Amino acid sequence: MRILVIEDNQRLAQLVADGLQRRGFSCDIALSLRDADNSMATASYDAIVLDLGLPDGNGIDWLGARRRQREIPPAIIQTARGALEDRITGLDAGADDYVVKPVSVDELAARIRALLRRPGARAQTVLEAATLRFDTATRILQCGGKQVDLSRREADLLELLMRRAGAVVHREAIEQALYNFNEPVTPNAVEAIVSRLRSKLDDAGAPRNLHTVRGIGYMLRDNGA
Ligand code: CA
Repeated sequence: MRILVIEDNQRLAQLVADGLQRRGFSCDIALSLRDADNSMATASYDAIVLDLGLPDGNGIDWLGARRRQREIPPAIIQTARGALEDRITGLDAGADDYVVKPVSVDELAARIRALLRRPGARAQTVLEAATLRFDTATRILQCGGKQVDLSRREADLLELLMRRAGAVVHREAIEQALYNFNEPVTPNAVEAIVSRLRSKLDDAGAPRNLHTVRGIGYMLRDNGA
């Protein structure tokens, strides 16, 4: 079990990491959100322990943005005693649990073990946007609980848009993601896939949130607007 401890207080970070290591976890430390991004780009973690006040930003904002964009392992936030508001916004931003500072490593380890026992915790593969739920492992899309059948390219496109929900995805990026180097891409190929995907989403009663950004690309909004 590999854990990333994101904490700018080096002494505290080391204390937590050593404590978790003694309890059988392997740990890396990130002293900033930027460090955390770098670590997560090169290693895969089973859980993260997240401090909220970091030198380059707020842990809650970071977590919320990462949750919307891509898979992120279960996260436990560390908050100051009594900061109820932090706990609520943290949980709303996608934290799975929290511990109160000063952190008891025994409690933290127990909470991590509990998180990792949850079904699906190890391979978090479900993306969600509005009423859509897409399982990136099984390639099954559900819309309001109903299954929607997609072709391979429709599913690839949807995954790409869901991973970057709320941001414009350039047409070239879509072409690169959907086609190999040596596959010819006809000028309207992406439009055609988008329009088939749109009509399937429409048929399934999904909110109309797949937008064309003229001359640039496409964007899936999180909400139904
Ligand atoms: Ca801090």
